[in-house]
Amino acid sequence: MQIYSPEQVLTHPLYKEKEVEVCIKRDDMIHPFISGNKWRKLKYNLSAVKASNLSCVVTFGGAWSNHLLATACACALHGLKSKAFVRGENVSNPVLTMCKMYGMELIFVDRESYRDKHKLYEEMLDNESYYFIDEGGSGKEASIGCAELIEELEGTFDYIFCAAGTGTTAAGLALGIEKAELQTQLHVVPVLKGGEFIRDEMVKLGAPIHQVVLHNDFHFGGYARTKPELINFVKSFVKETGIMIEPTYTGKAMYAMNTLIADGYFKPHSRILFVHTGGLTGLLGMLDKF
Ligand SMILES: *Cc1c(COP(=O)(O)O)cnc(C)c1O
Repeated sequence: MQIYSPEQVLTHPLYKEKEVEVCIKRDDMIHPFISGNKWRKLKYNLSAVKASNLSCVVTFGGAWSNHLLATACACALHGLKSKAFVRGENVSNPVLTMCKMYGMELIFVDRESYRDKHKLYEEMLDNESYYFIDEGGSGKEASIGCAELIEELEGTFDYIFCAAGTGTTAAGLALGIEKAELQTQLHVVPVLKGGEFIRDEMVKLGAPIHQVVLHNDFHFGGYARTKPELINFVKSFVKETGIMIEPTYTGKAMYAMNTLIADGYFKPHSRILFVHTGGLTGLLGMLDKF
């Protein structure tokens, strides 16, 4: 399937002042609900479902999970049944409503039971007919899908920036960079506290890390946590560029990139690519912050 993810020049007074060239890979434009990296992460998982002749998918996520919505939508498009274990009890919000509209069956579990996903899977009576997709869609198939982003690039870049939650996307980009034999350095911004674990996750997925730089100080207190400084940054970025970002993933990664550019981290004439990993429905859970 052909996808639409243009590579656009990003203009901002800061980039002009620091004489760096910044482009943005608009994976957010791939699909409104199977957006960004979630589309890439699902691609080979869904081929595996088809190849195994199964017609049901089970997966896992938090109440605002971009992955749940992407899976629900993709399964509906492919005529597959979907089921999800959702962390937390009695939650309801617009993202989960859309998941249900796509036909996803939601099972709410407390935080303790949610921890052991394989146990939840084993305890499903009809698990043999279900294909297991881990939380966030992470895993080897997912990283192969993400690696394809590199093949699509028209320009050449000294640096590529992306946000990281599980590190699968970053692993895929590192694999793509290696395969294409590029010198490009991959700058990864973990959105959780203690982001050093992303390096281990990347290694587990077989990704080379010698061209990877982690920026562990842009989590703003942890996953889905924000600070007024981040919210203000997101607001001005959206207004100045006309490109929507959100505070959970792309806002933190963009904040990190712009801070480093402002600090003169990159030499003049450096070419930088920011990967817009999508996930804009996450904003629906944060509207009160703006
Ligand atoms: C899920 C998600 C990520 C994190 O991707 P990982 O592969 O888990 O590191 C980044 N950005 C957005 C918008 C996401 O929805």
